[in-house]
Amino acid sequence: MKELDKLKAGFKQFRKYYFEENPELYRQLTEKGQSPKALVIACCDSRVHPAHVMNTDPGDIFVVRNVANLVPAYVDDGKTHGTSAAIEFAVKHLKVPHIIVMGHSQCGGIRALMEGSHESKTHTFIDPWMAIMTPAREQVAREYASATIDEQCHQCEQAAIGVSLENLMTFPFIVRALEANQLHMHGWYFDIDNGMLLEMDKAQKRFISVC
Ligand SMILES: [Zn+2]
Repeated sequence: MKELDKLKAGFKQFRKYYFEENPELYRQLTEKGQSPKALVIACCDSRVHPAHVMNTDPGDIFVVRNVANLVPAYVDDGKTHGTSAAIEFAVKHLKVPHIIVMGHSQCGGIRALMEGSHESKTHTFIDPWMAIMTPAREQVAREYASATIDEQCHQCEQAAIGVSLENLMTFPFIVRALEANQLHMHGWYFDIDNGMLLEMDKAQKRFISVC
């Protein structure tokens, strides 16, 4: 398992240079439990690890990752909803003060959506999952009809963050936390190509460079 050797060696490095050198941090995290300051909803993409990109410590962020960092609308049907379960745990039990939906450039899930794989039903699971973002796809198809597919994907990556933020508003416990001013929501976009972080200006519905 040569491919995994790097991961095992990496864990040894982590234990030696991080775990053993931060006994107080780990003592607090194990004795008092976690109290993360943000729920980060990120893509599964191997290039966009939130803890890595944001240089966080253990306990700082509660992360849920799925294909294309999507938030589905609230559905109370007794079925299995992994992302919604993570959101519920973070908001109801951990009482995170912030939710960050973090999209990124070169997103394969968004590209599949824009290229129309759902219409040919190419993927058993990806296509219905990405159909959550049909509103974003239709918006981009309307507003950027003559743009290249790369530009359309870029626009859809950002529009999808807006749709996810709207979908978060369909969760009753999130609305309650927002109304109580205990929760704040943010749309972030990691531009891998240029190593930039952008933040959504909700009023103007556009993304502005943070750093
Ligand atoms: Zn992605």
